[in-house]
Amino acid sequence: METHSDITYRNPATDLAAAADMQRVLEDMNPLPQPDVPTDDVVELACGLTLDGQVITLARVRELTGADEEAISRAALSSAPEAFLTTLLERGTVAIGDRPATPDLLGQLVVGDRDMLLLGIRRATYGESIDYELTCGGCGQKLGATVGLDEIPITKSPVPGATEFEVTLKRGVVARVRLTRGVDQNAVVHAARAGNLTIAEADTLLLARTVISLRGPSGATRPVAGQMDAEVAMRDLGLADRATLLEELRKRRVGPDEDGVPITCASCAHEQKVQVTLSALFRWN
Ligand SMILES: [Zn+2]
Repeated sequence: METHSDITYRNPATDLAAAADMQRVLEDMNPLPQPDVPTDDVVELACGLTLDGQVITLARVRELTGADEEAISRAALSSAPEAFLTTLLERGTVAIGDRPATPDLLGQLVVGDRDMLLLGIRRATYGESIDYELTCGGCGQKLGATVGLDEIPITKSPVPGATEFEVTLKRGVVARVRLTRGVDQNAVVHAARAGNLTIAEADTLLLARTVISLRGPSGATRPVAGQMDAEVAMRDLGLADRATLLEELRKRRVGPDEDGVPITCASCAHEQKVQVTLSALFRWN
């Protein structure tokens, strides 16, 4: 399920829906971390979080232990697909700035910053590199590749902590929008699964949470997110405007690059990219 919305692009429900995948994740967390791996536990956020007027750009993560593995495996077995990611972040993140990493603070982080934390937890737990096994798109041979976590391109917010932006729509309407946060992603994934929603319906939910307001050419402003009629407002938008908003959300996302890391086949020199997804980070080690 690949769409223009970053919710559906990387959501744990689609990455981890298969029970087999889930099982592989758990199995591969079994090997004990190497004691000689240097643990760099400070994560620089790609966007950052503004709290009480201060922009926080650093977080601290830690190596996952057996107790964490048990908690994460319990979450994975629960019926909520977003619980796996949430529990992983809650167990592996110690602090955001100088504050304890509460579920509430983790939920306020934009999706890209949560991805930065996942990278950090991966690094603290398994070390600097990820081993991929893939099939060459050129010659069909199986190839193994090792990707250093520092090779993954990271997009940073041009202005640290800035999560809001404006998008001009048709007929002179200007939408004030904010980047997708963890709490938005969780809500949409949860509702999409509970209600068996289509992508269009999930997009409506995402927009209803991320579009703060719509301002008409006359200057009249209609608040959207948090309003009773937020979903109605997003359903009433034209298709082109919805597509524009979803594309802006996608384009402006920060954190690890969606395109992935280029890998060149040693036999035929074909180049392909491997994506850094949740399952890639915690399936193989
Ligand atoms: Zn090849």
